[in-house]
Amino acid sequence: MKNIKTIGILGGGQLARMMVLETKRLGFDFLVLDPTPACPAAQVGAKQIIGSFKDPEKIALLAEKVDVITFDIEHVNTQKLNELEQQGVVIRPSPKILDIIQDKLKQKMLLKEAGIPIPRFLNQEDLTQAAKLLGYPFVQKLRHGGYDGQGVLVIKSEEDLKDAFKENFYVEEAIAIEKEIAVLVARSPQGEIKVYPVVEMLFDVRANICDEVLCPARIDESLAAKAQEIAFQVIEALGEGAVGIFAVEMFLSKEGDILVNEIAPRPHNSGHFTLDGCITSQFEQHIRAIAGLPLGATDLLIPTMMINLLGEGQGTPVIEGFEEALSLEGVHIHLYGKKEVRPFRKMGHVNIVDRNIDQVVKKAMKVKEILHVKGE
Ligand code: ADP
Repeated sequence: MKNIKTIGILGGGQLARMMVLETKRLGFDFLVLDPTPACPAAQVGAKQIIGSFKDPEKIALLAEKVDVITFDIEHVNTQKLNELEQQGVVIRPSPKILDIIQDKLKQKMLLKEAGIPIPRFLNQEDLTQAAKLLGYPFVQKLRHGGYDGQGVLVIKSEEDLKDAFKENFYVEEAIAIEKEIAVLVARSPQGEIKVYPVVEMLFDVRANICDEVLCPARIDESLAAKAQEIAFQVIEALGEGAVGIFAVEMFLSKEGDILVNEIAPRPHNSGHFTLDGCITSQFEQHIRAIAGLPLGATDLLIPTMMINLLGEGQGTPVIEGFEEALSLEGVHIHLYGKKEVRPFRKMGHVNIVDRNIDQVVKKAMKVKEILHVKGE
């Protein structure tokens, strides 16, 4: 196998930035394709091709210059990537996996076929019929392009039907959710698999964005073990092309069932805690996996809570409460270097660690109060 030295990334946002920060020390070089000059990854030492990560010519140019291609974002041009993969370009995870994951309905069908527990879903475009079969409330999801809840609607009654998506969707039963949890799992080209401890995700109700992640999740050990087993089954179900790190998002229902919601084929917000909480971060793990190296240990070293720093207002970023937040023990601030604030834009995150889990949560709430990224 060819030695992997230079890594190409489609997208140069915060995930690419953290891959670079975590693994330049292992001797890797990076080239990212991103439309914004001085994108977050380029600021920390990646070289950059300026252009859209959907542009086939720019993707081909990237492929010529690197030993492996990976992703910071999954909404990319898979047609060109499939073509390149057939010509022998190493792309991890495989664009065939992205094709499935980009289409939430295909994703659900694959999981169903593999016997993975998921909410009941229907490929049903007639919403009156869907309501009859699933009952109210039910959930309508766009098949393509949704993120941070943008493509998800809860249809509570007939009233809501007029505001529903008109096409390119599927429907599923509404789960009475006790907790939203996630498990990171990594796979190498040699088939080595490593599973991380379970996290619980807490959401900002205003924007429906996950804005707090706690590890360990406050759930029974037997449920945690079950969630890890399910994540293992998911990566096996994806098959050989599933190389790299994957985040498996799940619901723990009020009845105590664990159901898979969706898969992210890359480092994920729910895994940022690993930077300060685990033996091997999700970013180092991803790079180890795509470079065909042995995977690192995934143990949690200390209870960790991650909070997202979501933009407030619009304009040039100004950070409030920086020194005060840093004066608390066990506070690690990670900023993404974005030049412009927009409401709810992910500007950075903070990992708060403490040997006592109640203290972690308390301290995290304090940091949330103190620290703000505002636009000026
Ligand atoms: P996105 O990919 O945009 O994040 P998700 O499919 O993760 O979309 O859905 C966003 C949120 O909507 C979930 O985190 C959950 O809170 C809620 N949700 C999604 N599907 C269901 C469901 N079947 N039942 C209840 N709530 C759901």
